[in-house]
Amino acid sequence: MRIAVVGAGIGGLSAAIGLKRSGAQVTVFEKSAEVRAGGSGLSVFANGIRALESLGLGPAFTSVTDRGVEGITAGQRRPDGAWITQVPTESVGELRIVDRADLHRILSAELGPDIVRCGTDIVSASMDGTVTRANGHVESFDLVVGADGIHSRVREALAPEHPIRYSGYSAWRGITTGPVDLGGEAGETVGRGRRFGIAPLADGRVYWFAVANMPQDAVFPDEKSTVEQLFSGWHAPIMDLVEATEAEAIHRTPICDLGAPLPSYHAGRIVLLGDAAHAMTPNLGQGGGQALEDAATLAVLVSGRGGDPGRLDDRSRLEDVLRRYEDLRRARSQDIARKSYLVGKVFQTESRVLAGLRNALLRPLPPSLAAGAAAAVQNWTPPRE
Ligand SMILES: Cc1cc2nc3c(=O)[nH]c(=O)nc-3n(C[C@H](O)[C@H](O)[C@H](O)COP(=O)(O)OP(=O)(O)OC[C@H]3O[C@@H](n4cnc5c(N)ncnc54)[C@H](O)[C@@H]3O)c2cc1C
Repeated sequence: MRIAVVGAGIGGLSAAIGLKRSGAQVTVFEKSAEVRAGGSGLSVFANGIRALESLGLGPAFTSVTDRGVEGITAGQRRPDGAWITQVPTESVGELRIVDRADLHRILSAELGPDIVRCGTDIVSASMDGTVTRANGHVESFDLVVGADGIHSRVREALAPEHPIRYSGYSAWRGITTGPVDLGGEAGETVGRGRRFGIAPLADGRVYWFAVANMPQDAVFPDEKSTVEQLFSGWHAPIMDLVEATEAEAIHRTPICDLGAPLPSYHAGRIVLLGDAAHAMTPNLGQGGGQALEDAATLAVLVSGRGGDPGRLDDRSRLEDVLRRYEDLRRARSQDIARKSYLVGKVFQTESRVLAGLRNALLRPLPPSLAAGAAAAVQNWTPPRE
């Protein structure tokens, strides 16, 4: 059973780990010269943690995170620092903030360089299971997993030129070089068309993001000083966090998602996962979590009933596995992508009236309602097959 995974992001690496454990011979093709670390943090909620555990990565993940974030006061603040709403602990559930570099390191360590072929750009994949490299080399597999992100080349085989939608806002991300005291408070601060997020890492450093409305192709002479100008006058420690971050370590990403949900996540011997299948805006902090759920689900289904490695060269079994994967994954991930987009619309509004209304509605939100909405996204367990 030979499986090609295209893309060594969170989705591709975790899928490769699960598929390898299910007995498959896995090769990961990554176009970058090395597995990218990212230079930012990642929120992983209960669903992502369950997926990591299912992939056998629970202890490794625990070793690079801590539970400290769960005891912190979080929620939404106004730029002057007044709380709009504090998130009740029960609605946060399990949450870990991880440095992406740590996550990639623990995922890569499970596979090794003989499995992950860096510097290999896959230019196309076919439904018969062949992948073509940029140098023209063609190779055949029983299954091709397209985990090559929002601009997926593998997706082209299923959905050529599928639209990608710019949200209207872009995000800068950074991690402070050293620990910063947050005074036990974190979360998001929301202004009009701007937001700033604060998330402590296990070692005291702080991951932050700054979001602002702008054209997708906006150019700034200096990213760090642009963030400082846009958020000048916002409550402490926002400026301290930006100042405590190296200018070269602050990167801006235009926030995009798929312009329409894909009608299918599989065709022939190809299956999509992660951003390739359902790239979403990060407003619910779920893109990575959904990629992990995809990976854990695919691994369980491929390993077969009772952990018996299935034979994916048997066409009817392959179809069965991919149909089940689609049933388990498509509606859920697309629903979360849709919600995430709507949340972004609400939190990036520039209208004084709408922002005021939003804040007024958020303030009296009953904790049980907030907890219920969070649980709908975060309560997830891997299939038992
Ligand atoms: C600002 C921001 C904040 C976010 N915050 C969170 C968060 O807090 N929590 C969360 O869960 N998610 C978050 N996300 C979303 C999360 O980053 C993504 O959903 C996740 O990284 C998707 O992983 P992936 O493996 O599917 O794709 P990617 O991470 O995009 O990986 C794709 C890989 O494929 C490789 N590749 C691409 N094309 C080819 C090719 N042709 N051949 C070979 N290799 C190829 C790429 O080099 C890359 O390594 C955030 C996203 C953004 C933009």
